[in-house]
Amino acid sequence: MSPKLIPADIAIAGRGTHARVAIAPGEVVAAFGGYMVSGDVFAVLPAQRRSLSIQVADDLYLVGPDQPDPNDMVNHSCDPNCGILGSSVLVAIRPIAAGECVVAFGGYMVRGDVFAALPARRRSLSVQVADDLYLVGAAQPEPHDMVNHSCDPNCGILGSTVLVAMRPIAAGEELSYDYAMSDGSPYDEFDCSCGTAACRGRVTGDDWSRPELITRYRGWYSA
Ligand SMILES: [Zn+2]
Repeated sequence: MSPKLIPADIAIAGRGTHARVAIAPGEVVAAFGGYMVSGDVFAVLPAQRRSLSIQVADDLYLVGPDQPDPNDMVNHSCDPNCGILGSSVLVAIRPIAAGECVVAFGGYMVRGDVFAALPARRRSLSVQVADDLYLVGAAQPEPHDMVNHSCDPNCGILGSTVLVAMRPIAAGEELSYDYAMSDGSPYDEFDCSCGTAACRGRVTGDDWSRPELITRYRGWYSA
């Protein structure tokens, strides 16, 4: 089960989720949690569970908990007031002190030629650990596979597979690291929407060589 963000600002009312306070554009209002299953497993779940789930990739579904939270009750509208940012996030469920280990990536190691032949979804849930070596996560993603990139992250890399809090992290805060700390090839390039003042707009496999990042992340680069 992935950790879950339940903002105090939304509540179930009747058959849907309603704002209890005014919400500004850009505010995060819900982070879907649960467990990931492939389409064949998803198809045999009861209809009620499927209706409280969300598709996050071509053959991947995030199934909500047994007891629905406000997060699970967001209804469809043809004129909606919310959009989707990313497809899933990893958040702290308690305060985390600077220096605490928060994630140890697992999986199996492959060289670049094998890695290049994997489906895009598997590659995006992997981490580069050396010039020609990649750690591929499990077929069923676990919470630690969901750590998103941020251009102003709260975690850094210790060694090549462990994430450590670079500063204190509050409960409910999303965990993130800068992919420039690990990546030195173009396997996971994208336009960034982290929304931080430090956002560089586009994340590439060459970002590790940017002088300002080398200075800012001294000691936090993958080794
Ligand atoms: Zn960014």
